[in-house]
Amino acid sequence: MTAAVHIRSSAELIRAEEPVLAHNYHPLPVVVARAEGTWVEDVEGRRYLDMLAGYSALNFGHRHPALIEAAHRQLDRLTLTSRAFHNDRLAEFAERLAALTGMDMVLPMNTGAEAVESGIKVARKWAYEVKGVPADRATIVVAAENFHGRTTTIVGFSTDETARAGFGPFTPGFKIVPYNDLAALEAAVDDTTAAVLIEPIQGEAGVIIPDEGYLTGVRELTRRKGCLFVADEIQSGLGRTGRTLAVEHESVVPDLVLLGKALGGGIVPVSAVVGRRDVVGVLQPGQHGSTFGGNPLAAAIGTAVIDLLETGEFQRRATELGVVLRGGLSGLLGKGVVGFRARGLWAGVDIDPAIGSGREVSARLMRKGVLVKDTHGSTIRLAPPLTITGEELEGALGTLAEVLTERS
Ligand SMILES: *Cc1c(COP(=O)(O)O)cnc(C)c1O
Repeated sequence: MTAAVHIRSSAELIRAEEPVLAHNYHPLPVVVARAEGTWVEDVEGRRYLDMLAGYSALNFGHRHPALIEAAHRQLDRLTLTSRAFHNDRLAEFAERLAALTGMDMVLPMNTGAEAVESGIKVARKWAYEVKGVPADRATIVVAAENFHGRTTTIVGFSTDETARAGFGPFTPGFKIVPYNDLAALEAAVDDTTAAVLIEPIQGEAGVIIPDEGYLTGVRELTRRKGCLFVADEIQSGLGRTGRTLAVEHESVVPDLVLLGKALGGGIVPVSAVVGRRDVVGVLQPGQHGSTFGGNPLAAAIGTAVIDLLETGEFQRRATELGVVLRGGLSGLLGKGVVGFRARGLWAGVDIDPAIGSGREVSARLMRKGVLVKDTHGSTIRLAPPLTITGEELEGALGTLAEVLTERS
């Protein structure tokens, strides 16, 4: 134990951030100091149920014992080699991740945005070398209201002005079509199209679930037109929706799948592009890389994540508790909730604007010990750890009901 001279309060810590920390976030006023499972505790020892789970980076809860143990074991042995050398953890991670996702090859990276950037590079190279698109003419078709990360290339094809404005000039070569609209997609795809890049469920947009048949349609269309289907499963994947991948709800197999968030077990950033050998295989030495991508600590933790997913327990929990979540939200329709979309343990809940903005409702929930995040306007997103119990989930829904009827 270390003796602290002065432990700063939550309020002091929040004030201390202001002058020194970039203002690119507007967090709720809670300062988390420790966590376990579905619960976090603030500096003053107040406990909160985590109904956001790090935007699905914490699908297995905080500090899952198996993941912490794998991390500790690896920390004691080897943490980083760079890819200048092989490390003894990477082969198993790649084999197991390919097997889990039914894909051939793995390109390991770190953050989600890097996986998206890597997917874009792979798709473009494939377009030039395999499809025969003339040099520098390749296009990638994306969906309106997408969220794929924060790099300059990625925000360049965002339709969210807050994310884009002031960051141009942007990378050319992207076409934006409405989500969930196969006719628009059909019209946008041509001989220069390298790939269609979409989220199987749009998370940041408010958990927007496309119509049944959309993903099948995207798969059929991309195959027929001779371009790639790239699925960004960074938030939707790894158990969240009740399946390992959200595309499995329509039994669709994309050409490339982008993974991140939960792949690092809530411990370190781990992302990957997984895909077909004839696509990922276009990359040759020197053409892409990352100092940290595929590091032994990340590979060890990622492999432990795969161990958990292979049991099927988390996918099952998401499915079963998803019934409780939908039931609870249905009961709130007309009682402060004007609509919701849910799949597995993931929901976008539209709050009656008369009650308050998503932000205000999130703040009220926080004061009652439940942490959530608003998305757009009056929508809040629920995405608890998949380890949550039925009782905890019912408790959170009860607190939401209280907050909605309070009308402060
Ligand atoms: C979070 C997210 C990303 C970006 O991941 P980062 O690790 O924050 O860079 C990309 N795509 C989707 C669908 C996401 O939810």
